[in-house]
Amino acid sequence: MSEYIGDIYYDYGNSLYINMTNLCSNRCEFCIRDMADSLGTANSLWLKREPTYEELVEGLAEVDLDAYKEVVFCGYGEPTERVEDLINLTKEIKSRADVIVRINTNGLGDLINGYKISPKLENVIDSVSVSLNTSNAEAYNDLCHPEFGIKSYQAMLDFTEEVKKYVPDVRMSVVSVISSKEIEECREIANQLDVKFMVR
Ligand code: SF4
Repeated sequence: MSEYIGDIYYDYGNSLYINMTNLCSNRCEFCIRDMADSLGTANSLWLKREPTYEELVEGLAEVDLDAYKEVVFCGYGEPTERVEDLINLTKEIKSRADVIVRINTNGLGDLINGYKISPKLENVIDSVSVSLNTSNAEAYNDLCHPEFGIKSYQAMLDFTEEVKKYVPDVRMSVVSVISSKEIEECREIANQLDVKFMVR
């Protein structure tokens, strides 16, 4: 890539991660963005500006996709802030390699985009991991400070229910900064939604 914008593609564990945006509708108090400039093999996940779609594809040319089994959209921003580019880039990736593609999301893509994004993920995205983080809307507001306010929590749950119709693997996660009681309440919510549950 001719201009260094920041690290869009980086390795984390055995997977290829894609940091396609720094836009995010939340300001989570535990967000790694506030603690470090980078993760994995990245030098900086802070982008000097939002890369164009053409620049995302251009950067892909420098990646050996065959070296990975999994590609994860996750960086210093919320991937569904650029859902159209995310879908098109995934199609481009899948035309080049046989990889599983996962989105790590705050689950607010419907509010961000103003329409239900789940149908667009069908036959494109293999896995979605939704950040649940708390067991109720008030706690979510206090911890994640969503720009859409108190309705965000229910929107995140509704997205999780909806996306199960279109994506084969759906899971919810919490970060271990919350109490064990809260973790168990979140586990129960994931059980009720019939999705996997993970503590990060
Ligand atoms: S939703 Fe993700 S990227 Fe956005 S502030 Fe929260 S942890 Fe950070």
